[in-house]
Amino acid sequence: MELSLKGKVALVTGGGAGLGKACALAYAEAGAKVSICDMNEEVLNETLDAIRATGVECYGQLCDVSSADAVEAYFQATVDNLGGLDIVLNNAGISSPLTPLHETTEADFDRVMAVNVKGVWLGMRAALKYMLPKGQGNIINMASALAKTTYPGAGFYTTSKHAVGGLTRNSAVEYGESGVRINAICPGNVLTPLMAGMTTPEIREQLAQKHPMKRLGTTEEIAAAAVFLASDASSFMTGVLLSADGGWTAI
Ligand code: NAD
Repeated sequence: MELSLKGKVALVTGGGAGLGKACALAYAEAGAKVSICDMNEEVLNETLDAIRATGVECYGQLCDVSSADAVEAYFQATVDNLGGLDIVLNNAGISSPLTPLHETTEADFDRVMAVNVKGVWLGMRAALKYMLPKGQGNIINMASALAKTTYPGAGFYTTSKHAVGGLTRNSAVEYGESGVRINAICPGNVLTPLMAGMTTPEIREQLAQKHPMKRLGTTEEIAAAAVFLASDASSFMTGVLLSADGGWTAI
């Protein structure tokens, strides 16, 4: 099985923290040159230092994935600095307040959709513009178990992640013959800064119980799926919403 990413350039949005950071480091350990962007300069620089320490070339830039101009400029700068673009992980995403739908606000809706849906679309579009003429490439979108199931209060987030699933499946069909594979990862709950910010230890224990494996996932377990989908080990897979969720969506 070929899991090495030697000679590849991998780009990860929201790569400064959480799942994006773990995936960026895993890509580096698999031998790829790595580019990350984030909106938070401190975590961006910390993660760039950690990637550099693995011995691979890397590039990083501040970028809000909901801005078309910023995304285009970031992708171009990655190609200019690292010499190409083979793997794009559209990972940046935000949570939505756990609020009954009739109490939600227009501002919250707009921001969740701007980052989680528009941000993924912009990343896919920029990646495809570069990859299609080359006839090869690999796009991975970070969806969620909530691309397949839901729970009360998660209305916006669930809607945004179902949209990521739809974008992934549609594009995989649309570009099936192009040489570009397009898949998504659907993680269960993992303790990242995002998760820590919206839960208490009691809520995390309740969430763990939703997973048949009765625990939360680790960032490394999601990064392993990201390496698999980016590698030739998954060469006949496109349009897949790959669950790494401790069995949650098997229920
Ligand atoms: P996180 O908040 O811990 O890390 C996300 C990173 O993305 C942060 O560094 C943040 O600064 C950056 N970011 C946020 N908005 C951005 C933007 N507009 N442009 C660029 N960077 C931005 O989050 P996480 O838990 O690591 O989540 C990463 C992805 O995984 C998200 O898409 C999330 O929906 C998804 N996910 C997370 C879980 C989980 O349990 N943690 C489960 C399923 C799916």
